[in-house]
Amino acid sequence: MKYERIRKIVLEAIEQAVADGLVHGTSGNIALRDDEEDVVAITPSGISYVGMKPEDIAIVDLNGKWLDGNYKPSSETPMHTAVLRARPDIKATVHTHAMFATIMAMGDNPVLRPITPPQCEFTPVRIVPFTMPGSDEVADKVAEAIGQDGRAVLIKNHGMFTCGKDMKAAMAAATYVEEMAVTTYYAKVAGVYEPMPEEGEAAMKALIAADQAV
Ligand SMILES: [Zn+2]
Repeated sequence: MKYERIRKIVLEAIEQAVADGLVHGTSGNIALRDDEEDVVAITPSGISYVGMKPEDIAIVDLNGKWLDGNYKPSSETPMHTAVLRARPDIKATVHTHAMFATIMAMGDNPVLRPITPPQCEFTPVRIVPFTMPGSDEVADKVAEAIGQDGRAVLIKNHGMFTCGKDMKAAMAAATYVEEMAVTTYYAKVAGVYEPMPEEGEAAMKALIAADQAV
């Protein structure tokens, strides 16, 4: 099988996302760029992730053209490839409809701020207005909101999108963004919402960046 390594990593990641409750049914999709060739392994469209095999993971080029795989690539491929084209430092991308991230993207002025230190690695979490799923418009808006430094965005009435230098980093972003949304939601319900002070957040970001540079 071609591109077996990246297909297996994508399959393991989507199984983990299902086990962690970040993905339900066939919603959510995960992509990984090959280290040497400009190809991307991505979860297929509309197929249950239960019992999925590596050869079921689709292979596309950086423009989303379907090259290989038993099933056609995710309908949300444009969002993944737009970010991968714009950010050579990014290898892995994750999109989920995780419940609390979706809730926290609503309202007139949604802001997701870190509650605990590890969450600072993934802020600021910018907000993307609603646009049709699978469209080039949503892909462009997600890539624009991620920018040259972003790790995560929320998409209104849809979900979240995260990325990283490898699959572990992209999955950590998805996990911590959902944790940030869960803790924010419950803190607001309990009337004790108090995100980390901005100076603390900046200091943590500097510490994490220095640690990752080693
Ligand atoms: Zn979606």
